[in-house]
Amino acid sequence: MKRRTFIKTTSVSGLACTIPPIFTRFNDPVFTTSELMGKADIDLFGEGINLRKDAYEAFIKMKKAAYSHGFDIKMVSSFRDYYRQLGIWERKYLRFTDEDGLSPLDAIEKIIEYSTIPGTSRHHWGTDIDIIDGYPKSSGDVLVPEKFESGGPYEGLKLWLDENSEKYGFYLVYTKEPKRRGFKYEPWHYSYAPISIPMLSAYRKLNIVHLLREEDFLGCEHFTLGFLKTYIQDNILDINPALL
Ligand SMILES: [Zn+2]
Repeated sequence: MKRRTFIKTTSVSGLACTIPPIFTRFNDPVFTTSELMGKADIDLFGEGINLRKDAYEAFIKMKKAAYSHGFDIKMVSSFRDYYRQLGIWERKYLRFTDEDGLSPLDAIEKIIEYSTIPGTSRHHWGTDIDIIDGYPKSSGDVLVPEKFESGGPYEGLKLWLDENSEKYGFYLVYTKEPKRRGFKYEPWHYSYAPISIPMLSAYRKLNIVHLLREEDFLGCEHFTLGFLKTYIQDNILDINPALL
């Protein structure tokens, strides 16, 4: 507990003091390092929606349009801060190492099939959403690719999103493209491109390797330079090219 409290207080204030905000061309949006890493308090809109204002408004428009075609877009996950991602990371790390007996490196590889390293999640930005159709009954985990495929409960919504989501600014991030590396296919994860594209470009200007090496959470001592460079290349940047 003591360690966590210490990290929380020092890393937030430490970052705020030592790393200046990113200044881009005049009139370009400015995103701070803490904001890009999920450590800042940002304004979020919509009860149970929790997105930046423009993303929220576009989401509501898309949700209304989907209703008229017989789908109830339900938010499973949207904004998630650094500390929640850290909890997800450490819980999985402990399960894979302590309970399943994996080596630390194998555990990390297994976590990053679907979950991000804290500080690197697109869910930190208030632009990205995991969605399903609220109408069909389904049991068990909802974020499973088969449920969005032929015969699955969310097949209809997925087909509708394929046709329509981009009209509202929402693009699939982790596509089914066979040559894509990094995170596996996530038919549920969409990103509001008008904000997430400039955020990704600001994020790429950070020294991500350096920032991650300053962090202190379970397993991070096993991050080598090579691992982090591959992670950035594959898991952060090998996404739907429309979002780069
Ligand atoms: Zn997601």
